[in-house]
Amino acid sequence: MAKIWSLALHGGAGPIFGRNYAQEEAHISGLLTEGASRLAAGEAALDVVEAMVTALEASGLYVAGRGASPNTAGVWELDAAIMDGRTRRAGAVGALVGFESPVQAARAVMERTPNVLLVGAGAAHLAASAGLARVEDPGSYYGAVAEDTVQEDAWQMRPNMGTVGAVALDQYGDLAAATSTGGVLSKTPGRIGDTPIIGAGTWADERCAVSCTGLGEYFIRANAAADVSARVRYGNQPFEAAVRGALDDVKRLGGNGGMIAVSASGDLAWGFNSSGLKRGLADSRGRFEVATFL
Ligand code: ASP
Repeated sequence: MAKIWSLALHGGAGPIFGRNYAQEEAHISGLLTEGASRLAAGEAALDVVEAMVTALEASGLYVAGRGASPNTAGVWELDAAIMDGRTRRAGAVGALVGFESPVQAARAVMERTPNVLLVGAGAAHLAASAGLARVEDPGSYYGAVAEDTVQEDAWQMRPNMGTVGAVALDQYGDLAAATSTGGVLSKTPGRIGDTPIIGAGTWADERCAVSCTGLGEYFIRANAAADVSARVRYGNQPFEAAVRGALDDVKRLGGNGGMIAVSASGDLAWGFNSSGLKRGLADSRGRFEVATFL
């Protein structure tokens, strides 16, 4: 059997028209090259998606990890999830405070506990016992919040500039997905979006792996990430149509955003009904694309 692999990354669904994203695109391109060579060398999809999201978080270029913005109380509460398609093991953290890499905390939930989702103080306790790097001084660690990313009205939520995510198929036929975010802009303390809700913002099974970005409340109500798999499984929809259908359902509810997805046969799909989607796609057949808008 041919040893195929595929990888997709995203850096969020809310880019601003007219702004130049060359720096983010160069970063995604470099990571894509690294992730592709790891998959080509036989690394597991689960490890590659964790490494990709860890690097996206650490860059400070997206609204996740180091680049995250605080909630209305001035606290950086971060969400992340990771899922292994073959076993459907999953780990997630919500409203995690004080750690550099929420996706590593999510992996720790998956590896070290019988649970899927830990939030708040419980998530922080687990991250500490796993020895994960702490954020000692949030004011200097996290980036400054650009004025045009702040909003006043909690009912008028906007997606942030850069939830991050990765999906991969490895040479063993296994799929994995990971997503990390600072959430929507100026979010209410304690608000948790779709990212750490398994099935809503992050999903992987034996058919596909999906990572979403956008207005999380709508992705939760649409169960958007798992809906891609359900459309393939029960509706016999072609993979790309399933991605489009899941996003159409988000839109029908009044939301917007985007997603990246990979199928068990290595097909890569993406879509957005927001302003754009910072994304990168690569596979063993030679595909290599990085873009932000259409
Ligand atoms: N989906 C994220 C959330 O609702 C935000 C985003 O992707 O921009 O928390």
